[in-house]
Amino acid sequence: MRIRPAVERQNAARLEKRRLRRSEDRSPYSKEPALAAANIRLLEQYIRRNAAKLRTDKYTLTEIANHVLDALVQMPRPARLRAHMLFTFFTKRTSRVRSGQKTHCIEWQGAMRGGVPVVVTISSQAGERHIVDARKYALENPPKGPRRNFRSKPFSLCGNSRCVNPKHIEMRGLPREEKSGENHGRAKFSDALLRKVAREYNAGATAKELSKKYGIVLVYVEQIMRKEKRTEATAGMTIRGRFRSY
Ligand SMILES: [Zn+2]
Repeated sequence: MRIRPAVERQNAARLEKRRLRRSEDRSPYSKEPALAAANIRLLEQYIRRNAAKLRTDKYTLTEIANHVLDALVQMPRPARLRAHMLFTFFTKRTSRVRSGQKTHCIEWQGAMRGGVPVVVTISSQAGERHIVDARKYALENPPKGPRRNFRSKPFSLCGNSRCVNPKHIEMRGLPREEKSGENHGRAKFSDALLRKVAREYNAGATAKELSKKYGIVLVYVEQIMRKEKRTEATAGMTIRGRFRSY
């Protein structure tokens, strides 16, 4: 039986987590929990000071962390150090907000290739190393929520080539219906969640109740139930009363 790549990736991630936890039991961190936090702070300081010299176009962020920790303190990587934290250590918030933007740019301090910020990833199936656009990586690996997978290309809305602020990035280059909806760079709600909302709506919940329950703006819930927004999420579903005008 062929295991789907996503499942395989999740399994690999789970195994890696278990392996780290186990190694941590034997590591200095289990005896002295404050050491993990101290080492993460050391690592952060080192990366922030030396980011330009660390080859994010050659090694993965985890490999860099392992190497630096080994050189500085001869200790392994603490399990609580998450990939998105490491990514943040390689960024710096700009002091001013660019015109046309509401938020600060978050500039990549690691390597650039062909004018774009880059990180290296290793595919869990073939073990191949890939140089990946760090803007895409940032959108695919949010601090909260599941990992995502875009087939489109990142576009900087702020015009700052080093900026990896997800709010300043839009994934482009797919047919319209594919880059909208859940593939949109700023989509908050997954197709699966919206289908769940639609099923509850069909079962009798009101748009107002669902808006409150899932933290989705009421008008947006109504638009989705009328199949005016996120239509691909509810494709094939019959939604109660959608031909009425309320
Ligand atoms: Zn920006």
